[in-house]
Amino acid sequence: MKAAHPSDGVLVDRYDRVARDLRVSLTDKCNLRCTYCMPAEGLPWLAGPELLTDDEIVRLVDVAVRRLGVTEVRFTGGEPLIRPGLVGIVAAVATLDPRPRISLTTNGIGLDRLAPALHAAGLDRVNVSLDTLDAGRFTELTRRPRFDAVLAGMAGAAAAGLTPVKINSVLMRGVNDDEAPALLRFALAHGYELRFIEQMPLDAQHGWDRAAMVTADEILASLRREFDLRTDPAERGSAPAETWLVDGGPARVGVIASVTRPFCGDCDRTRLTADGQVRACLFATEESDLRGALRAGADDEDLADRWRRAMWGKRAGHGIDDPTFLQPARPMSAIGG
Ligand code: SAM
Repeated sequence: MKAAHPSDGVLVDRYDRVARDLRVSLTDKCNLRCTYCMPAEGLPWLAGPELLTDDEIVRLVDVAVRRLGVTEVRFTGGEPLIRPGLVGIVAAVATLDPRPRISLTTNGIGLDRLAPALHAAGLDRVNVSLDTLDAGRFTELTRRPRFDAVLAGMAGAAAAGLTPVKINSVLMRGVNDDEAPALLRFALAHGYELRFIEQMPLDAQHGWDRAAMVTADEILASLRREFDLRTDPAERGSAPAETWLVDGGPARVGVIASVTRPFCGDCDRTRLTADGQVRACLFATEESDLRGALRAGADDEDLADRWRRAMWGKRAGHGIDDPTFLQPARPMSAIGG
């Protein structure tokens, strides 16, 4: 353990982890209402003035890449494609020096239309969320009949060169847990990379149930009924997904087992919410307000130092398995998944 947090340099914490991967939420709003994420009526959204402006976002990302060693920037939400300034934000971030790699996590709706402009602006690749290949189930799960729009979005992203297109899928018992092989077949047929995410206690309704969640072991067992899966020899590094070669490779499938195989010891993420709060962890219950400091006239070094201090306090693990675990007050949609 170090005696004090470093007063300059990268985003290091007390456990010597260095955060280089920044997740930026561009909005807490979404055009879907996935049952495991938010209630049908939506949530009390952040008010306009609470949101960082496009310029404020770019300024904070600049501080992160120039002063804090961030090399990856992922835009998320809510649904980032519904932020009007998205293309301009990507374009501005792509001119930063050093230029970070830029990606986007999206539900894909409207991506076919936006993909060429996003690619031209400097977006490198996308993750598209899709939990089912059954249009009727999609409508039940997301409460919106937009299945075809998501497929079109993925195809549009691939055609525009936003590759590799990765698919994120969450399986839920009795809802879509029979679809793991079909989702993998679909991904292989289209050249997309599939990753399953274990469901985490981050829903606004607090309906998560450890006993009911579909585990990584169950997902792998289900895939192995149809596919040969071998441990991927590639170095995992700080990637959240553990990956397997499918039928000898080169295609891969990944599982992000945040609950049953936590990877907190290798975590290299730092998060900025749409209202300018730094979070050291998805499950953090503390936040550091950069928006207030920025609007009060803080200079870049002051902002960088506040960010360093926020990360220094990162806890060793998310503690989901701890009896004292408390779900964070902000749901996933308001943190940025
Ligand atoms: N709207 C974008 C999208 O659909 O990808 C970005 C935000 S969404 C919150 C990001 C990812 O988080 C999606 O893949 C979604 O399935 C996942 N997600 C939402 N709630 C979750 C939960 N409780 N556990 C695990 N993943 C969750």
